[in-house]
Amino acid sequence: AKEVSRNKYELFAPTMSVQASGRLTIEQELRKAVERDELVLHYQPQVQLQSGLITGVEALVRWQHPKRGMIPPAEFIPLSEETGMIIPIGEWVLRTACRQNKAWQEAGYAPMRVAVNLSVYQFKQPHIVHTIAEILHETGMDAIYLELEITESIAMQNAEQVIITLEELKQLGIQISIDDFGTGYSSLSYLRDFPINRLKIDRSFVNDITNGKDDAVIATSIIAMAKNLNLEVVAEGVENEQQLQFLKNKGCNEMQGYFFSKPLPAESLSSLLSKVT
Ligand code: C2E
Ligand code: CA
Ligand code: CA
Ligand code: CA
Repeated sequence: AKEVSRNKYELFAPTMSVQASGRLTIEQELRKAVERDELVLHYQPQVQLQSGLITGVEALVRWQHPKRGMIPPAEFIPLSEETGMIIPIGEWVLRTACRQNKAWQEAGYAPMRVAVNLSVYQFKQPHIVHTIAEILHETGMDAIYLELEITESIAMQNAEQVIITLEELKQLGIQISIDDFGTGYSSLSYLRDFPINRLKIDRSFVNDITNGKDDAVIATSIIAMAKNLNLEVVAEGVENEQQLQFLKNKGCNEMQGYFFSKPLPAESLSSLLSKVT
């Protein structure tokens, strides 16, 4: 399916049945959404290809709107970024994801990572490392189980400052992955300069991986490059067995996609997890 473009004029259209409200109204509603507890996280498993074990989950935000129903992130994250609302929303996401992962661990499930998408606007906040450290402290979740997904747009920022922030996060024990890898316009030098743990191959490359197209070459090259750089590699958007086998044969570490599971509410995800014995 065509991705909803990150264009403010497409907000709530065409998926919204109700006539789109004015932008101001949406902004005001978004502001109240956090206070009113209307945001919800769904979790999508990341599965190790060799073992079949769930090694992590990605937290993905949705807006449970009282009138409009479940609104996907593509329809409100861009506006949140424009208005600065991404800061409180992003903190809520971090806190909720860490709290949930801690709760799973306390319930006796095998410890795993929780991956949280971090907007570049959040990353640029002067106190971001402090904020994240506070959230870890407050929720009691061990930093080694937190992964931050950042995009290649991070490489367009002041490199010195980015490296300092990433090093501080690494010092805390947090892992960093590059999301939508291969879709940005940046040079690859950041792979050498930034302390990162993982690349996530964008699902646009995984889609046609078994259809004899260039995508297979691109995905294979990303996996080989990641291995040589000692980075883990996760394939996004794996939808069928053939894609899974292809990736496994090429040495991809993990996969995430509808073939294994869609993003699920926390309660439903629990049933996929195994207890420590
Ligand atoms: P993303 O980080 O690339 O997340 C993966 C998206 O692909 C998710 O869409 C997920 O539901 C979808 N997906 C997973 N497996 C498959 C598959 O097999 N096939 C297909 N066709 N799609 C699959 P979702 O949840 O709608 O999120 C869209 C984007 O919104 C995310 O893309 C991310 O960029 C952003 N987003 C979501 N939650 C947050 C958040 O808490 N903070 C920020 N800053 N951005 C978020
Ligand atoms: Ca992501
Ligand atoms: Ca992605
Ligand atoms: Ca994406």
